[in-house]
Amino acid sequence: MYVPKTLMLGRCWRCGKRIYRYDDYYVCPKCHAIYCPTCAKKTFYKCPADGTPLEAR
Ligand SMILES: [Zn+2]
Ligand SMILES: [Zn+2]
Repeated sequence: MYVPKTLMLGRCWRCGKRIYRYDDYYVCPKCHAIYCPTCAKKTFYKCPADGTPLEAR
């Protein structure tokens, strides 16, 4: 399946999973790191780098 690169937002900063625009993901409003739902849950929805609560997107 071909997925346009523009749909990919980046990779989860914790596990490296690819995150696409249409996926559920979490973002740190402070450092703008993005996390997959699995890692967000494992870090108790806080950015592991600075402790800021993650925002669901
Ligand atoms: Zn992850
Ligand atoms: Zn952060």
